[in-house]
Amino acid sequence: MPVLECNVKTCLHNEDNCCCKGKILVEGERAAAPCNTCCASFDERTGDTFKNRYETPDMTLAVSCEATSCIYNKKKKCSAEHITISGNRASVAGETECASFTVS
Ligand code: SF4
Repeated sequence: MPVLECNVKTCLHNEDNCCCKGKILVEGERAAAPCNTCCASFDERTGDTFKNRYETPDMTLAVSCEATSCIYNKKKKCSAEHITISGNRASVAGETECASFTVS
C-alpha cells in the first residue's frame, strides 16, 4: 500500500496531509498526464459538512486506480511506494490530481 501525501486541504477527509478514508479511488481511464487523473474519493469540506470523528489519518492506504497507463498501475491497484494527491484549492474531484502519475 502506498504512503499517501495529500495536499487537498479543502477535502473533508484530509488531516495533516494524510487521508482519513482508509482507501481511495483514482480515476483517469484515458490519462496521459497527471492532470487527466483525479481523486474520486474527494468530498468538499464546507462549513456545515459533518466530519466523521471516527475517521483517523493513515500514512498508508489502499489505492484503487483507473489510470491503467501509469507505470505503477498493477491490475487497477497502485503499486507505488509513495504518491502525492494535489489540488489544494479544489472544490470538486476534477480539480484534484495524482501528481505521481507516470508513463514509461
Ligand atoms: S501513481 Fe499511478 S497507479 Fe498510483 S494512484 Fe497515481 S496514477 Fe494511479
